[in-house]
This record gives sequence, structure tokens and C-alpha cells, in this order.
Amino acid sequence: MSESKDFLRTIVEEDLRSGKYKEVITRFPPEPNGFPHIGHAKSIFINFGIARDYNGHCNLRMDDTNPTTEDTKYVEALKDAVQWLGFDWGDDVYFTSDYFPKIYDYAIELIKMGKAYVDSTNEEEMRQLRGTVTESGKRSKYADRSIEENLDLFERMKNGEFKDGEHVLRAKIDMSAANMKMRDPLLYRIRHSHHFRAGDKWSIYPMYDFAHCLSDYIEGVSHSICTLEFENNRDIYNWVLDTLGLELPRPYQHEFARLGINYTVMSKRKLLELVEGGQVNGWDDPRMPTIAGYRRRGYTPEAILNFCDQIGIAKANSMVDVAQLEFCIRDDLNTKVPRVMCVLDPLKVTIENYEGTEELEASYYPHDVPKEGSRKMPFSKEIYIERDDFKENPPKDYFRLTPEQPVRLKHGFIISCKEVVKDASGNIIEIKAEYYPESKSGSDSSGIDVKSAIHWVSASHAKTVEVRLYDRLFKDEAPEGVEDINPDSLQVIKNALIEPAVISQKPDERFQFERQGYFYADPIDYTDTTPVFNKIVGLKDSWTK
Ligand code: ATP
Ligand code: MG
Ligand code: MG
Repeated sequence: MSESKDFLRTIVEEDLRSGKYKEVITRFPPEPNGFPHIGHAKSIFINFGIARDYNGHCNLRMDDTNPTTEDTKYVEALKDAVQWLGFDWGDDVYFTSDYFPKIYDYAIELIKMGKAYVDSTNEEEMRQLRGTVTESGKRSKYADRSIEENLDLFERMKNGEFKDGEHVLRAKIDMSAANMKMRDPLLYRIRHSHHFRAGDKWSIYPMYDFAHCLSDYIEGVSHSICTLEFENNRDIYNWVLDTLGLELPRPYQHEFARLGINYTVMSKRKLLELVEGGQVNGWDDPRMPTIAGYRRRGYTPEAILNFCDQIGIAKANSMVDVAQLEFCIRDDLNTKVPRVMCVLDPLKVTIENYEGTEELEASYYPHDVPKEGSRKMPFSKEIYIERDDFKENPPKDYFRLTPEQPVRLKHGFIISCKEVVKDASGNIIEIKAEYYPESKSGSDSSGIDVKSAIHWVSASHAKTVEVRLYDRLFKDEAPEGVEDINPDSLQVIKNALIEPAVISQKPDERFQFERQGYFYADPIDYTDTTPVFNKIVGLKDSWTK
């Protein structure tokens, strides 16, 4: 993969050159409160990618400091995603919860230094005392508690003697700091809830700003890479490590722009709402922007990584066109997958001057794809074509089959329409046609001019399959959530007809259905009796470089 040098790699290289660090250690630190999405893929790509480029290591750390929303199933989903994207975190997955005892000890150290205190102000008053951007805050009256009293109260907070919200532990920094985050930030809060790993051992949980920098330090992280919204947290990050006297190789924080994609929501909380509200069929619904969703839909890890590479690493937030992601998957599949025929909306064609069956040799790949392989396509008197590929009264520039215009059956013969059969209400139910024996693909001596080739299947040989067509989950370019859902994001076709080799030979899991798009054999619902294919992406590009 060609990663041109970005500002993060520039920093890393400089830090190695100057000897600030001997080794690059990064980490990917998700909170296990949902399935990872494409934004996480970007973070994975950056953190694991940098570690790989500089022979370092990237830790996979579950940032599990919030007991009420976290779960083991999300830990598994995160591991699956990292692995599927092709990265390796080594022997162990790390958990912030494993550092709770150490983080607690650091808190005691701060208290002993007079740098942290137990505050018993209620939330509302605390907010008022914090002040505003233009107005200094005022320190709580509890900030004057003695070290002994703070140590005693903090221990009793830990032992579960107080109710949620009764006390918090705060750093004693600066109530008039221009950076509001530095106005005596919270370090610990009381939470009487069950933690999915730590159980009921703890009644207090460290806040992100305290736990994160220390977890990075404990793991020997050199470069702590996070998204821009943590820019103002950097001062606390440094304050904690500096105040505790933790020296190099201590970590430093660096921020990059968060990935946003149009027509997509990218917040685990909002995605959870869709899952819980039943708007989608679970976290791995192929319409979801989760790694599990893309995977189930048929996206490849290569395409996602290539997308992450293309969009680059910026210092300012911006919106990426979802068409660019679609371009990447199309670009990847174009060079890889077999081309086959599947008729989604079948119209019967009876070729009146043909008897019997023959097998047509058909390559799976076009000339410009350097892959070999072919199948035999059975051809017979009754075939199906796409309903759309015949028009009785064609518009101008219609190049497919009409009563006056012949068409080529791809890999087969040229046919022309002799008669249009309709039911009582005037719907076309069948075409009676004629074929030209000397027009066979590859040895055509018929001299007949056709304007296009269409896909088709032999009626008696085709297999019935279910095809799931996906459209964007949101109709709004900048969706908020449920209210912007596209009601037509899923269309299920139960009776599509596919050529038999796809089912019997299974030359791949992913295919290009000629003229329809790219499709993937659904990894869960596909059975031999009911093959199910997901539409990965259409053939047309709407993204312009
Ligand atoms: P969400 O709001 O979706 O829950 P988060 O930032 O709270 O996202 P975390 O699990 O804390 O999710 O994220 C783990 C890592 O992934 C963090 O380092 C975070 O910065 C990064 N990350 C999350 N979303 C994005 C995004 N859209 N673009 C880039 N990185 C992201
Ligand atoms: Mg987070
Ligand atoms: Mg979040």
C-alpha cells in the first residue's frame, strides 16, 4: 500500500531520529459499547499502519471505563474487525479495567501531593462554579479539605460507602484556565454498577481524561493518536503525566481529523438506536456502516483499507463522499471477481427455431482482467431475459431487443423478436423469437448488426435465488438518525434466476452479475436450497476524482 507521508508519520520519524523513543508503540483504544464502524477502520488503519511502517507495535486496548454501556459481545466484534482488516495486536488484548488498581494508586499519589481533592458539590452548582469562556470559575469550598480527609473520603468512595453522585475526585489545576477542561477536571466518579469484567469490585470509575493517559503510559505507548475533538483534552493528558513525574518514554497525544461520510451516521450511539429500533437487522446488517455490515455485504478489507489510504490523514474535519468508498470497492472487485449472469426480473423468450440443448463456452473474466477460468453456459429453446431488455415501443437510443431490433445474447447467439405474447390485461408475458445459427459468439458470420448484448439464462437450467438489493440507509446527505431513514433501502427479490455454474461450481463468493452490479453470497443466510446474494455495489460510478 502506498502511504504518502502524512503529518503523523512526519512526527513519528522525527521522534525516532531524535532518539525521543527507541520504539514506536501506538494503540487503538475503542470503548466496547458498540460495533466498530468505518471511522474506527480509519483509526485502525492509522494506528496499526504506523506501527507496521516503523517496526513498532500497536496495542488493541478496550477502553472500558464506563460500566453501564459495555459488553463482551462488543469486545469480540472489535477483535473481529481488526483481524478482518488484516492487523495483528500480538498475544494479548489490553483492558483499561485491568489498570484500575494502578490508576487508583496514581490518584492517591495526586491526593498526597495536594493535587487532587474530593468534591461534594452537586452537579448543578459545580457547573455554575466552573464559569464560562469569558468568565473565570470559582473553586469549590471542598477544595480546602486536608490530604487526610481526601484520602479517607476517596477510600470510602472506593469501598462503596456513598451513593452515585455524592462525591467526585477532581484534579486541582486552575479554575481560571482559558481551556475550560483544565478547570479542576473530574478524575473519578462513583458508579454502583456491574462492570462486565471487573464485576462489582469497584464503586468508583476513572474518567477518560485520567484513565487514558495513564493507560497509555502503563503500556509504554509512544504516540497516542486520537481524533480532533480531544484537542482540548491534551492539556490534561500532559498535566497528569507531568504532575506525577512520569518521564520519557512517556506518551504524547496527537490529533487527526475524524472521518465523516455523507449519507452515513457514524456514532455507535446512533447505530445502536437503529439496531434496537429494528430499522436494521442487527449490527451486521449490510446497510450498516459497521465493519461487520460491510463485511456481510461483501466489501473486501482491501477496498476499505484503500479507501482509508486515499482519504489521507488531515488536521481539519471534512466530509467524504460515500461515492468514494463505493468507488474503492468497485475498483477492487473489478480486477478480481468472475462475471456471471443472473436475471432479476425474468421475461420468458421462446426461440422457435431452436431444438435441444448445447453448451456455450463462456469466460468468467473479461480480457482486461488477468485471470483465467470459464464455464459452460447451457443454451436451450426457452430462456429468460431481463424484462427491461425488451421494449415494444422503444424510446430513441434504446439498443436492446424490440420488435424491429435484434440483440445479442452474451456468449451466445443473436435473436430477433417474432411475436409478443400478452395476458388478458395486456401485460407482456412472453416473447417468441428466432435465433441465427451462424451468429454464435466468437464465430459470427451472420453479418447481422446488433447494438448491444444482454444477459440471459436457460429456463430449464437456471437456479432460483434470492437477491437482496441495498440502497443507502439514509436519504439525507447529513442524516441525524432514525428520522432520515430511506424507506426503500432494502428490496428483496425472491425469484431471480441465475446460471447454474454459479451454484454448482461456486467459482467465488463474490461476482459481477453482468450489467447489474457486484454481488456476494450471503455468509449467513445462503443455503443450497435457497442461495442468497447481497448486492455489494452497482456498476456505475458517481464519484469523480
Ligand atoms: P463513537 O462516537 O462512534 O462512539 P468514539 O470516538 O466514541 O466513536 P471509540 O470507541 O472511543 O469511539 O473510538 C476508538 C478510536 O477510534 C478512537 O481513537 C477514536 O478517535 C477513533 N474513531 C472513532 N470514530 C472515528 C471517526 N469517525 N474517524 C476517525 N477515528 C475515529
Ligand atoms: Mg471514545
Ligand atoms: Mg462514543
